[in-house]
Amino acid sequence: MRTTIKGGEFVIKETLYSEVFIPEEFDEEAKMIRQTCLDFLDAEVLNKLDRIDAQEEGLMQQLMDKAGELGMLGVSIPEEYGGFGKNFNTSMLVADAVGGGFSFAVALSAHTGIGTLPILYYGNAEQKAKYIPKLTTGEWKAAYCLTEPNSGSDANSGRTSAKLNAEGTHYLINGQKMWITNGGFADIFIVFAKIDDDKNLTAFIVEKDFGGITMNPEEHKLGIKGSSTRQIFFNDCAVPVENMLSERENGFKIAVNILNIGRIKLGAATIGSARAVISTAVNYANERVQFNLPISKFGAVRYKIAESAIRLFATESAAYRAGQNIDDAYEALIASGMDEAKAKLKSVEQFAIECAIIKVWCSEMLDYVVDEGVQIYGGMGYSAEAPMERAYRDSRINRIFEGTNEVNRLLVVDMLLKRAMKGELDLMGPAQAVVGELMAIPDFADEDTTVFAAEKKIIANLKKAGLMIAGAAVQKLMMSLSKEQEILMNIADIIGYVYVAESVLLRAEKLYHSQGEEATRVQADIARVYLYSTIEKISAAGKEALYSFGEGDELNMMLVGLRRFTKAQPFNVKDARQRIARKLIEENKYCF
Ligand SMILES: Cc1cc2nc3c(=O)[nH]c(=O)nc-3n(C[C@H](O)[C@H](O)[C@H](O)COP(=O)(O)OP(=O)(O)OC[C@H]3O[C@@H](n4cnc5c(N)ncnc54)[C@H](O)[C@@H]3O)c2cc1C
Repeated sequence: MRTTIKGGEFVIKETLYSEVFIPEEFDEEAKMIRQTCLDFLDAEVLNKLDRIDAQEEGLMQQLMDKAGELGMLGVSIPEEYGGFGKNFNTSMLVADAVGGGFSFAVALSAHTGIGTLPILYYGNAEQKAKYIPKLTTGEWKAAYCLTEPNSGSDANSGRTSAKLNAEGTHYLINGQKMWITNGGFADIFIVFAKIDDDKNLTAFIVEKDFGGITMNPEEHKLGIKGSSTRQIFFNDCAVPVENMLSERENGFKIAVNILNIGRIKLGAATIGSARAVISTAVNYANERVQFNLPISKFGAVRYKIAESAIRLFATESAAYRAGQNIDDAYEALIASGMDEAKAKLKSVEQFAIECAIIKVWCSEMLDYVVDEGVQIYGGMGYSAEAPMERAYRDSRINRIFEGTNEVNRLLVVDMLLKRAMKGELDLMGPAQAVVGELMAIPDFADEDTTVFAAEKKIIANLKKAGLMIAGAAVQKLMMSLSKEQEILMNIADIIGYVYVAESVLLRAEKLYHSQGEEATRVQADIARVYLYSTIEKISAAGKEALYSFGEGDELNMMLVGLRRFTKAQPFNVKDARQRIARKLIEENKYCF
């Protein structure tokens, strides 16, 4: 077992390459599961995309049934309920593989994630025995009803009510839910409602057959047109008392914890999607000839190909690194005697900061990839006859659902500061040490010339920049920092970029040590280019933050510090991007 790393600790601690998992390490079984999903998409989904988007009657349900027969809905479900009981990272790999399936991917992930997991992790033995096997086969399909017309990001403010009937046998649910994925065909709804004057939500398992459920027609959406999205009305929907999930007023906690899982899985899904889009774009760039040359010969196009691959490889490194951290934390909790469902939740909760970062960075990575995919296709990128148009539209939702990217950025900083305040993470000690270092004479010790030593030093310095800025913001603004969202966004950007840059560097380092320099030169280029653009982004975000709250000598001192911590030897990113693009162009696909 690996040493257990604490969530959020990357901000203050160096991670060794030997401590991270990289996707190249998946075993044969995991790869086989992945291949099964890819084959399924090829055989059943990708040849029906127009029919799926037209919401052909019954088609999505049939596809879900077939996926259920193959076991794709039960990868992480314990064997006793008919699943395969695979670990977290394998379920990430499935989300990744299915991620290229457009609306089908959304339907499947809503069912297996937010639809099924509340019961698996919070249900009692009877509830699990009744619902999980049928959800695992796909016989029953699930939806998750949290959002309401007036309650979106502020999810705990929902007005849907639950009242115990006079006999004390049923809760009568009344209210309106909005944007419910799989709403049109779901048999089971996880519904969040407030009992009487409760402050917090309570969760219920609601069967469609309980009655009192009506819905609006399908929403007309920008993208994921094949995914069923409905407004659902509950009118005295009578839910047996035994269908309350967990305890009264525990619903918001359930919603938050399930969303943590949803966020990192969404990240995994964008990876699969981006991989397919980049391959399609490279293929087109190799075939399309202008000025007597394939457009893949032009530096401007090669830049887009390389940069898309860099961002994908980098965010993928972060996603599977965090996935493994979750698996390791789970093993440690089980070893300490915790029961399985609790350990699953706790392990993800411990890495909620990383889950939020991955959601944001992956969804923004995919938006970049599809945008440049359209651009590489030129006019054909704008045509509904060609594949980029759907990819472009379908990508956009990822920055909105599972918590908007703004809300997730706020959460990253909020969770870090809360952990520091609770004494779980010592942020202030290292932040003060950075200030001490700034006052001292710089250390001109001999440079370490071992492989990636310079890059690791940059990462360490970028962390110092983040600690300096966050520490100063906390000291200066105190309680009002939580209202200074622009500064919080800057700090979240610094933290997120550091995490992803460190992840891709550790992956390149591990590959270097396992496969040798020659075989992994392009991956090293990827890590370096990502790192160098990170330096610029952190420098910009850092300056914006400091200008927003710093003053006088203190501001000047911190600006000097920021310059020192964002200093690096020049690196020719143009040549590195050329090498990266060449590899993809030669292979005619995304090949890492
Ligand atoms: C296609 C689709 C499928 C969905 N599926 C489901 C589902 O299955 N189940 C479900 O329950 N929900 C679902 N949702 C709802 C989704 O989770 C919400 O749309 C999302 O959480 C945002 O809520 P909202 O739309 O009310 O936006 P709002 O909360 O109104 O946000 C509007 C804007 O304000 C910003 N904002 C809001 N609060 C803050 C703040 N405190 N600080 C800074 N900025 C803020 C947001 O970032 C956003 O940019 C789905 C939505 C869509 C579009």
